[in-house]
Amino acid sequence: MTDGLPMAFPAPGLPARVRIHEVGPRDGLQNEQGVVPTEVKAEFIRRLAGAGLDTVEATSFVHPRWVPQLADAEKLFPLVSDLDVRLPVLVPNERGLDRALALGAREVAVFASATESFAKANLNRTVDEALAMFEPVVARARAEGLAVRGYLSMCFGDPWEGPVPVDRVVRVTRALADLGCGELSLGDTIGVATPGHVDALLTALGEAGVPASALAVHFHDTYGQALANTLAALRHGVTTVDASAGGLGGCPYAKSATGNLATEDLVWMLRGLGIETGVDLDRLTATSVWLAEELGRPSPSRTVRALSHKE
Ligand code: MG
Repeated sequence: MTDGLPMAFPAPGLPARVRIHEVGPRDGLQNEQGVVPTEVKAEFIRRLAGAGLDTVEATSFVHPRWVPQLADAEKLFPLVSDLDVRLPVLVPNERGLDRALALGAREVAVFASATESFAKANLNRTVDEALAMFEPVVARARAEGLAVRGYLSMCFGDPWEGPVPVDRVVRVTRALADLGCGELSLGDTIGVATPGHVDALLTALGEAGVPASALAVHFHDTYGQALANTLAALRHGVTTVDASAGGLGGCPYAKSATGNLATEDLVWMLRGLGIETGVDLDRLTATSVWLAEELGRPSPSRTVRALSHKE
């Protein structure tokens, strides 16, 4: 399928390896209108693991009424739990953690907001009320020996509040770290970040004692800035990048359908920089082409389109 891969030109000041945190099955599928069959989701996760992705966020243990698309978490997780990859799951509260633990999940994530508007819209709580809700979840998960990731939404802009002050993002990131989240994923939920803004936030976080090694970045490509922003983060020493196979999914509050950074686009750039990911780009692209057929529309990823184009 591939005509070729980019030539590798390693650039100074960049990591030798990047871990991709694949969010397609969860973040990608959760906004799909039609319900995707559980078997298709399981096959998707298996193919992603087969393509070399070692972290595949599998599903979410939120209340089924909130996210009907992921209401099959109990059915799905056992279908993939034999895979030799990390399979984090989202848990919003103690009930969600109970469900995840009952199925043998080893990694969980909580999801906070940097802004009051999104905390209200997504969790019906203030930022501090949400943090208080997560405190016992993180404590119990850690006591059970689980790895805990903290997602932080709206780190750059908010659809109701506009630009988000850097010091506010630092405060909530610091709070999530203090709760015991070992990894903090900074989300540009509506895709308005630009590289200088990324630079400013990561510098401020470093000054607040949150090192790049504890961070992941989660960019959306709404304005075509996701890869430029990723490169800015890599230059700061970040080595964990969230992406969604085929560019699946997005945010219902963003202004266009363009959403998550596509994993294939990310792998293409990293390959060109000589950065290892362990991902087989042909197999990953084939996976996204297969899923696009299942969903009945083409992948928005430029790299998927270019590599799957047949004369
Ligand atoms: Mg996303």
